[in-house]
Amino acid sequence: MSKKVLYEGKAKIMYEMENPDELLVYYKDDATAGNGAKKGTIVDKGVMNNKITAFFFDLLKKNGIDHHCISMPSDREMIVKKLEIIPLEVVVRNIAAGSLAERLGLEEGTKMAIPIVELYYKSDELGDPMINHYHVKAMAMATDEEIREIERQALKVNEIMMAHLKTKKITLVDFKLEFGRDKNGTIILADEISPDNCRFWDSDTNEKLDKDRFRRDLGNVEDAYKEILRRLTGEER
Ligand code: 5GP
Repeated sequence: MSKKVLYEGKAKIMYEMENPDELLVYYKDDATAGNGAKKGTIVDKGVMNNKITAFFFDLLKKNGIDHHCISMPSDREMIVKKLEIIPLEVVVRNIAAGSLAERLGLEEGTKMAIPIVELYYKSDELGDPMINHYHVKAMAMATDEEIREIERQALKVNEIMMAHLKTKKITLVDFKLEFGRDKNGTIILADEISPDNCRFWDSDTNEKLDKDRFRRDLGNVEDAYKEILRRLTGEER
């Protein structure tokens, strides 16, 4: 297996594979917040996020949403389909929290009447600014049809995840997805789905079971990730 690093991000390393259509993703324990301003380690985060992501991808596939994951060769690694990543962060929100609560002066925890889809331009230098359909088309990031397909899939992912999480007494507050195009130009779900890029609250207590525990110095960060993995798969780690 070739081990040439293609890209190292804040939470993952992407390696080239001998098969040019595939990549190896290695999930790290490094945690950052505030666009890299805060750095730390969450013990075994890489293993837990890889497993949680694999669980959600499997759930989504069974419900008609395709994704980039091909296999999991180890606890920290995922082999994925090589895609042309669209530089968008697609955020879906059911309940006001984080930047939405701040921007609109909403109390955190306010239920939204419908799910909100937001688009952000993925750029560390610019701090991921929020953009709309006009910007996406004007900057030739995606066509009208592709934007429609991305939003359709994002809302379907929301429905599928929300319904399943409800049975595990977890409230899906919001999450961020990324998409890419495969060789045929088909829009495919990429990146990860984990407590790093989702807000999960315990349905009974509203206790935060996600990266906000790290971002906001709430403590028990590892326990929150472990609890999500346990409720989803029954595994302790
Ligand atoms: P907010 O805009 O409130 O900060 O984030 C909304 C949702 O998207 C949260 O679930 C958050 O975890 C996720 N999110 C937004 N931007 C990023 C990002 O740059 N990286 C990661 N991992 N998650 C993000």
